[in-house]
Amino acid sequence: MLYLQAMEYKDPEIAKVAKTLRDKYKKLEDKRAILRTPEIGALYERIKTLPAGKVRAEFGREVNELKAELEQLVRKSRTSNIEHRTSIDVTAPFDVNTPLDERPQLLTADQGSRHPLTAEQEIILDIFSRMGFTAVESLELDDDYHMFGSLNFPPDHPARDDYDSFVTDEGLIAPAHTSTMQNRVLKQYKSNLESDQPIAVVIPGRTFRNEDVDTTHEHTLYQLEGIYVDKGIHAGHLMATLKAFLEEYYEKQIEIKTQPFYFPFTEPSFEFAISCPFCGRAGCQICKQTGWIELLGCGLIHPNVLKEAGVDPAQYTGFAWGLGTMRLVMMKYGIEDIRHFQSGNLKFLRQFS
Ligand SMILES: [Zn+2]
Repeated sequence: MLYLQAMEYKDPEIAKVAKTLRDKYKKLEDKRAILRTPEIGALYERIKTLPAGKVRAEFGREVNELKAELEQLVRKSRTSNIEHRTSIDVTAPFDVNTPLDERPQLLTADQGSRHPLTAEQEIILDIFSRMGFTAVESLELDDDYHMFGSLNFPPDHPARDDYDSFVTDEGLIAPAHTSTMQNRVLKQYKSNLESDQPIAVVIPGRTFRNEDVDTTHEHTLYQLEGIYVDKGIHAGHLMATLKAFLEEYYEKQIEIKTQPFYFPFTEPSFEFAISCPFCGRAGCQICKQTGWIELLGCGLIHPNVLKEAGVDPAQYTGFAWGLGTMRLVMMKYGIEDIRHFQSGNLKFLRQFS
């Protein structure tokens, strides 16, 4: 590694600059900046002023040697930095370790805007946050236990067929509902109950269905799960919570109605409908002249689901719901086709920017 040893320069001026630059180099954060220092530039300017001949040639050779020495130092710093580079953000369109001035020029973001689902989700989460709910994001790959087992689906139960999603070669599931997070959230927040605080969590996330896509069906859906557990919680609390949220979201009074339904993880289970926010029950195209819109599934959390997460169902009860965020937003703006959201169609997106 002889070439990394500091060179000896015969010319006193160059020797002095070499010493200055070596000291400067040690303090530099961006080591490459040493190659752009004014001292080096001045030495190159100086060559031109010397009389042509041996002196000038010798001086020029030493200046080049000094430059080569500095380049070696910079190369060495890059090599020794490699061990410290731990992770690379693979979603970035360049290596994030690239110095700022070497990064590609990217298009500015002034042509873009937030996606309507992102913007609406923020409004939704803000309402629930003011109602005392914490938000936890759902996983986009999960396992059979969280998809079914922890939610009181017996093995081979036909109810599993209603959640036809995608499975990886390793057996992981692209979750068909955000309820996959119930067991985790109950476990994570059950200490709240011991200190007389409720478990109050909303879970926004993407869910996936093996679905033929049409105006009302998508393979990738945005859902919002809600979980609330405390002593003495009953279906009245569930209805009041959802009604309060929906009235704030739609900024108008609405009526609600429920009818019995079946989910393995809630008992009783309900289908939850609201009076059409467009026609106020008079009947219109949006509600197919019925005056009502079925919006979500909900119910009281099944005792087995609480038990599975270590929450005593004799002491605590709770409710849960799974809300289709896209459907909610479609109802708000009168969007007639669910496929618009993920179409990337600027004519659609720009109406919200
Ligand atoms: Zn209507």
